[in-house]
Formats: sequence, C-alpha cells, structure tokens
Amino acid sequence: MSNVETDPVELTCYSTTGAGPVEVLEPRDVPLGGPRAMAVRRTLPQRARSLIGAWCFADHYGPDSGPMDVAPHPHTGLQTVSWLFAGEIEHRDSLGTHAIVRPGEMNLMTGGHGICHSEVSTPGTTLLHGVQLWVALPKVHSDTPRDFQHHVPVPFDIQGATARVFLGTLGGTTSPVRTFTPLLGAELIIDTRVTLDLNESFEHGVLVDTGSVDVAGTLISKGKLGYLGTGARSLTLESDSPSRVILLGGEPFGEEIVMWWNFVGRSHEDIVRFRADWQAETERFGRVEGYHGDRLPAPPMPIGRLRPRR
Ligand code: MN
Repeated sequence: MSNVETDPVELTCYSTTGAGPVEVLEPRDVPLGGPRAMAVRRTLPQRARSLIGAWCFADHYGPDSGPMDVAPHPHTGLQTVSWLFAGEIEHRDSLGTHAIVRPGEMNLMTGGHGICHSEVSTPGTTLLHGVQLWVALPKVHSDTPRDFQHHVPVPFDIQGATARVFLGTLGGTTSPVRTFTPLLGAELIIDTRVTLDLNESFEHGVLVDTGSVDVAGTLISKGKLGYLGTGARSLTLESDSPSRVILLGGEPFGEEIVMWWNFVGRSHEDIVRFRADWQAETERFGRVEGYHGDRLPAPPMPIGRLRPRR
C-alpha cells in the first residue's frame, strides 16, 4: 500500500522509555487518496512512538467493501508486509512479481535501493480487511536489491490461542522469511487467555483487530495498539470473547531514519533524491507491467528540512 495522504504530515517523534506499563497507541484515521477513497487506521508512526523494533508503519483497514486500487508507487529503504484477514489483492511490482495476496499468506516485498508496485483488490473481493506493515531496513542494508518473498504459515495451537507466525519465532515455530533485523510478526486468534513466551531483548506491540484484549493488565480495544518495552519474558493476553490480534516485535532499532511519503532514508537529501528519481522515472524504481492506469505522482516536498526520528 502507498501512503497516499495528499499532504503527508511530517511528524517529530520522540521515544519514551520501554519500562513500565503498557502504552496505548491510538489510531488516527487516514483517507487513502483517489476517487475510491478507503479509510485506514494508522497506529505507527505517531508522535509518541515511531518504531517497534524495525516496524515503522502500521495501517489497519476494513472490513470495507472496497474496492482498493493503489496505482504504481515507489518504496525505498523498507520492506512491506501485506497481511489480510479477508479479501484478495492483486500485487504487481517492478521485480516482475505478479501475485495474489490472500488471507493468512505472507507477502514480504523488499524495496531497499528502490522498487515500485501496484495493489488492486480482485473483482471477486466484496470485503477487504487486513493490515499493511512496513519494516525499516538498517543503514547497512538500506540499498539492498528488490526482493519478494511468499510464505504460508501453518496455523498451530498455543494453549488458548491459534497462531500464524509470518516473521520470526513464536511458540517454537519459526518463519523462513528473511529479514535484516531480528523481528517478530504473528497473527493470534485468542479464545479466552493465552500466555506467550517472549524474547526479552525485543520490544512488542499488540494491534487489536477484533474484540478487546487485556494486554498484561491494560485493556486494549479494537483498532488500538498496546506497546510493551524490552525486558518482558512472557505476555498474557486475555479476552472475554474470541479476539484477533497482530503481535509485532523486534530488537530496538537504534538508528535514526527519515520517513516521508513512501520512502525511508537517512537524511533530507536522501528523500529529495528518491523523490526526484521517481518523478524522473529513473531506473531506481523500474516499472510495473500490467497495471491499467497512471503511476502515483509524488506529493510536493514540504517546506523546510525533514528531520530524523527514532
Ligand atoms: Mn506500497
């Protein structure tokens, strides 16, 4: 998905300490642009928190009748995860990938040096429901070539929940999908109560899709994200009714990044260069074949310098 805010806001973000209780991150509604506008609920980044591990962007959308039609747009310095609960999306990118994104299937696209892609809901999709997540690449790998990985995690039971691990390790199950920093990404369907063993060097986020979930003693309602700092060895999630959450985790990223529109860079100058390359249709991003329509133009740069966040 594209960050298609017509005037992307530049946020100055600060970190809070990881210690203490669960921090509740409220979503903000962001209309995706175009004639078929669909609203998404964005919990990352925000002023109070930019990153959870290398996770730097979290959009939650639907159930929505759609359709979704996001024209070819670029990415740099990040990986995108499309994870659906319902519906299907046709993905095309400048690596030549043509894939159908389906519920419960992991599709990780890497746009280090540069990639572009389009995302269109399939004609048979009457309900679209899912999350779009971005992973920031560490500086040493920020220029990595284009890549696309597909994986279908086998669901398994942890006492009190069903888990699908799409990145990293949970409950003794490890995803084969390659990342550039230690990460965790999993879908959990909670019956009533589950206790998970965590990697204590990770910070974690629990994005609630359906229901209300007690996350280590703090009630997190639908659409919100509960943040837990490093040092937790286990986490108990409890719910009165069956609930679905996305569990994110990772080692604190420890690097400053500059995020603007669909780009992650390290400086204002990086972003200016990426934007100019997209507008000039240089080889950095390549071309999407088979999409019927124009590419998304980059919005104008904001006045003033973009500042890094961490
Ligand atoms: Mn995208």
